[in-house]
Amino acid sequence: MSKHIQAIRGMNDLLPDDLVWWQRIEEQARSVLHAYGYREIRFPVLEKTDLYRRSIGEVTDIVEKEMYTFEDRNGESLTLRPEGTAGCVRAGIENGILHNQVQRLWYLGPMFRHERPQKGRYRQFHQIGVEAFGMATPDLDTELLLLCQRLWRALGVDGLTLELNSLGTSQARAAYREALVAYLQGRLDELDEDSRQRLHKNPLRVLDSKNPAMQPVIGDAPKLTAYLDDVSLEHFATLGKMLAQAGIKFVHNPRLVRGLDYYTRTVFEWTTDRLGAQSAVCAGGRYDGLVSMLGGQDTAAAGFAIGLERLVELLQQKGGAIEAASRPQVYVAIAGETEEATQGLALAETLREEGFRVECHCGGGSLKSQLKRADRSGAKLAILIGRDEIARGEVGVKVLASGAQEQIGRGELTAYLRSRLV
Ligand code: ATP
Ligand code: MG
Repeated sequence: MSKHIQAIRGMNDLLPDDLVWWQRIEEQARSVLHAYGYREIRFPVLEKTDLYRRSIGEVTDIVEKEMYTFEDRNGESLTLRPEGTAGCVRAGIENGILHNQVQRLWYLGPMFRHERPQKGRYRQFHQIGVEAFGMATPDLDTELLLLCQRLWRALGVDGLTLELNSLGTSQARAAYREALVAYLQGRLDELDEDSRQRLHKNPLRVLDSKNPAMQPVIGDAPKLTAYLDDVSLEHFATLGKMLAQAGIKFVHNPRLVRGLDYYTRTVFEWTTDRLGAQSAVCAGGRYDGLVSMLGGQDTAAAGFAIGLERLVELLQQKGGAIEAASRPQVYVAIAGETEEATQGLALAETLREEGFRVECHCGGGSLKSQLKRADRSGAKLAILIGRDEIARGEVGVKVLASGAQEQIGRGELTAYLRSRLV
């Protein structure tokens, strides 16, 4: 016997029972996003590799070691999207919806990174991404964080910490970079292999190291804040005030640098202590330079992405019942053959038109086995149709939890069901 083919490591199947949670998050997110005037955009999962090289940056974990890159049949290098911002900006420029406009856009979908799979870290994972274009002032940064907070509240997620920092302009970062390299060279013997590699290629990323042994070195490092340009400092100070006014608590983490090159000024992460090492649930910031870097006009921009697997895990940990809106309310069981089955299908159609969720038994079998299936379907009531019922113009209705059964006239059925299924 041949071994069955298995899924790719780090790429998960989501079964109907899991999707109950996903759907709840997606519905709430949609409703919150629409409440802020964000509109959905969809773009391909596959793009030219250069798009990611140019936007995310050559010397980043994503581009150096995490991308799924391959040549297509024409020899063109393509990459499965590791994140959404680059594709969203590309689509925005290409369709002419960014230039001289204000756009609030969102998307949802799978992203791909070749990382070491573990809890909260997968090779195919999903993000809800939010990108806002054409707004340069910190009111927009504040609004993005208000949106996040409203979503956490809508979902009942608590205990998240907002960490905030400013990366300033790329010029300001260059001066800081020099100071940081000088400092790190002084403590070279304390650096791990990864950090030594990053030292010259992308020294800011040393601050991003999750290695506990590196934390003392990182703790003593010069702070980026001291090197920020005046305009960025003012942007950051105003953002702080606006957040306080809006009642959003945050922690200034001067070592928060984020893994992508395109950020300017504001960067943030919403983190939790309930997911072990994979603590960031949502991350983002301002990227005023990216649109022009990808060939568009100079356009202010900011956004964030939520990791859905981590959010689902948080909600599942909290537990609680979830309204199973995808489950049928009524199961129609058939006692008989073709004639009864035909009547069953027709009754199920009528009930659906009246707004009920109905699963109609197909495939024959004894009444006993049909009722077992009815139980498993999650329906509250079973309707029984047999020759006698048809002749008398009624149906049997069974309350599945108690087994109580009564005969109901077809004319009273709708009202009966409405009263039982609130
Ligand atoms: P991390 O530091 O955990 O690797 P990141 O900085 O690489 O995260 P981003 O690129 O900012 O992550 O993506 C935004 C969010 O997407 C993260 O905060 C996280 O919730 C989620 N995410 C990122 N990578 C993965 C992954 N491999 N599996 C599951 N979720 C992920
Ligand atoms: Mg990462």
